[in-house]
Amino acid sequence: MNQIIRASAPAKVNLVFEVGQLATDGYHPVNSLYLALNLREDLTLVKGEPGTGISIYVHGETLPEAHINSVPTDQSNLVHKTAVLFAEKLGKPVPDLQLDIHKRIPVAGGMAGGSADAAAMLVAMNEFMHKEHGTERLSIDELAVIGAELGSDVPFCLYGGMALGTGRGEVISPLEDLGFETNWLLCASSKGLSTPTVFAAFDELDSHRPFTDLSDFATIASVSELASRMTNDLEQAAFSLMPALSELVSQLEQLGALRAMVSGSGPTIAALFESEQGAVEVASVLKAQGLVALTAKGQAHGARLDG
Ligand code: ATP
Repeated sequence: MNQIIRASAPAKVNLVFEVGQLATDGYHPVNSLYLALNLREDLTLVKGEPGTGISIYVHGETLPEAHINSVPTDQSNLVHKTAVLFAEKLGKPVPDLQLDIHKRIPVAGGMAGGSADAAAMLVAMNEFMHKEHGTERLSIDELAVIGAELGSDVPFCLYGGMALGTGRGEVISPLEDLGFETNWLLCASSKGLSTPTVFAAFDELDSHRPFTDLSDFATIASVSELASRMTNDLEQAAFSLMPALSELVSQLEQLGALRAMVSGSGPTIAALFESEQGAVEVASVLKAQGLVALTAKGQAHGARLDG
């Protein structure tokens, strides 16, 4: 019987996203505090017929069609790149695979959707190659090293929970879990924002500040204290590219969010609520306005195989 492997990986929000000055390698150093949410991408891997290559099917009924249609299904999809890189690292041929991605994370929304797919694929490939070729299963730390070559958010999507991210965001230091659950409303935009464009706008604003020590976040005792410490250095840059985002942040805070903020490079707005009910009620207000509003909880576990 054909091998079927299922894996999933979480979305992230950056509770804090501090961005340094553009370095000579063309990247910005970051000081980030990641939180994983229970909004997960599901990946199913089926062994294909010999010689059929890698085929990718992408779907997801909770997201706008434009999001699903903007995800490539060729070799530029991150799961395709992951399969090729993983096989190369193990010195094995690239397998024939049928891949199904059930997307729940807004695309190009600053919530690491593609990175979550890559993280799920790393976990799935680890298992597939073990069963197919008898290769040793790699540890999560080893998978994270490969993941960092695919994208800065991939290692965090492997670990999940709450963690500091330094370097380009790919150097992960896991923190103790928060002692309480967090309730989020995520308002996705029908149009994405390209991460490099937002960083370029950030450079133009030239508003770098020194990095702060984020290691005490695990000792935060309440959701309101957490809300008061959320910041995102890219927010003004995202506002300059999409002014409507700033109005949406104000609207969400007027409607009862403890804090609403651009998630990562945006344009998704992540709003933190005191209760699940609060998040759900405001989500229905936004949906009535024709906006895409999702609710989710933090924190969540990282990429893993599913039954
Ligand atoms: P991040 O928060 O990590 O910066 P993001 O959430 O803003 O990323 P993604 O959803 O990862 O953005 O997508 C960015 C672009 O990557 C998309 O516009 C798409 O063209 C491309 N892409 C490649 N593979 C995938 C994938 N599996 N899922 C989504 N987008 C992908």
